[in-house]
This record gives sequence, structure tokens and C-alpha cells, in this order.
Amino acid sequence: MKNAGKTKKIIYIVVILVIAIASAAGVNFDKIFGELPESFISTDKTSEASFKIHFVDVGQGDCTLVTCNEATLLIDAGENGHETDVLNYLRSQGIEKLDYIVATHQHSDHIGGLPEVLDEFPTDNIIMPRLTKEQTPTNSTYTAFLKAVKASGAKVISAKPGLIYSLGNATFEILGPVTDDCEDINSMSAVTKITYGETSFLVTGDAEKDEEREIIENGADLDCDVLRVGHHGSSTSSSRDFLDAVTPEICVISCGADNDYGHPHKEIRERLPKYTDEIYRTDILGDIVMVSDGKTIDVSFENQ
Ligand SMILES: [Zn+2]
Repeated sequence: MKNAGKTKKIIYIVVILVIAIASAAGVNFDKIFGELPESFISTDKTSEASFKIHFVDVGQGDCTLVTCNEATLLIDAGENGHETDVLNYLRSQGIEKLDYIVATHQHSDHIGGLPEVLDEFPTDNIIMPRLTKEQTPTNSTYTAFLKAVKASGAKVISAKPGLIYSLGNATFEILGPVTDDCEDINSMSAVTKITYGETSFLVTGDAEKDEEREIIENGADLDCDVLRVGHHGSSTSSSRDFLDAVTPEICVISCGADNDYGHPHKEIRERLPKYTDEIYRTDILGDIVMVSDGKTIDVSFENQ
């Protein structure tokens, strides 16, 4: 039996050597043998950089794309006028359809680009906060968004805590809004936590301190590695209690250069470094892309 084991081992080594030499010479084994035998395929499901989160630079607005295996999630699509940036970015990533869109809330810097996205990319599900009649905007941006949602045929899902979905080998969970009667639309933002292996990412839209408090009180597990900082770094968000619960190792602020709101505000620029010194801004770095192997996160920027 010992010899049989030894022979098997030698055969494996020879096969691996042949594959290595032939691969170096450009031979495509898939074409010769069909699919490679299972023993030669990595069974580590979190390898090969299958998880990516892209914080797309859309000026003063938000747009986050998450891809895992073949699954896709888009959270917001920037302001009116930045549609081309979003469409080009999705095309550059080879996106052909979207499994999920989360429209965090009804302000134009988040949903402005979604009609064009819905028009071009078949979309299965749209998750967004359900508004009362009093909360519902009547402006042309929101009307165009609703029209596009209807035309897309996508399933519309009301954002509420407890919703959990698979995204390839990753999952994402909706943590807010907790209540449905907040007068301020910002604090009706859909808050999304994405988990891949041991790594996690939190995207809060423009949720302000009152929604942050409600999510904490609702018992959500907010601990995350990466925080897309709420409301473009406004001092109306990112309360100390919320940051204490999240304990971010990396913060991303999505805002436009020299924006009219002064985002990110001084208080937040001073507060975040108490939690981490890895703070990245789209107005300075352009598109920010993170790749997770389920344990560690690599960050790269458009403007290196
Ligand atoms: Zn916003």
C-alpha cells in the first residue's frame, strides 16, 4: 500500500508539472480536456478576489457597487448629470444585469442616475424605503425614478430591518430604517450591511443621528470593518455612539470637490481619526475599490 501511495504521489507531481509547463507555454487545458478535474480547482470559495466593493466617484452624491461571484448589488447611482459616469463604470466592470438595487432614499444625489441605470441594466429587485404620502417628493427626479422602476418590471421591496439576501458567497442585510414615520427623508435611509467571510461593510445612505440611534436601539450588529460614512461626512451623522458600535477600521467619504455643503464637516474630519487613520475620500482619490478574500481587505484608488 505504501508503494501505491508513493506511485499516486509521483503521478500527481508529474501531472502538476506538465500543467505548469504547458500553462507557461500558453496551452489551454480547458480546451483540451474540458473542465479541469476537481482536485486541481481551488475549493477555497473566498479566493480569486471574488468579492469587490466599489465606491464610485460621482461628485457630490453616492454610488456603491458590490460584486461577488456573478451576483451584483448597486446602492444608489449619484446625482442627475452624473448618469454617464455610473453607466460607464458599470459597463467597465462587465455588469450585464443587477440582482439588487438599494435606493437608500429619495434625494436626487442618490437616485438621480437610477432611471438611466434601470433603462440599460435588467434589474431583478429594488429595495427602497416605503414613504407616507406626506413624505413622498413630488419633484421631477422622483417622478422619473418611479416611472423607471415601474417600467423595469423589477420586484419592489420595502426596506426594513431583518431582510437578508445572498449575494454570491456574500450576504447583505438591511438594518434600517427602523421607523416609518420620520419627517426627514435622510433618516428614512435604507442602511445596508454586507458581509463576506470575516469582512463586513456598512453603507448608511444619508441616515442622520436619530436613525443611527434607532438602529442601535433595535439591537443591530453594527460592528464592521469598513464604514461608508453617513451623509457625505455631514456633522448631522456619525454620532460617537454610532461610531463606537461600528468601530470602523476603514472609512470612506463620498463627496464632491469644493461642494456647497462643506462636506465632510470639520467635526467629522476630527472625529473619525479617533477610530482609524484609514480615511479615504472620493473627491480626492476618485473611485475607491476594495477587494476582500474573506479575511483581509485590499484598497486601491483611481488617483494613486
Ligand atoms: Zn446625499
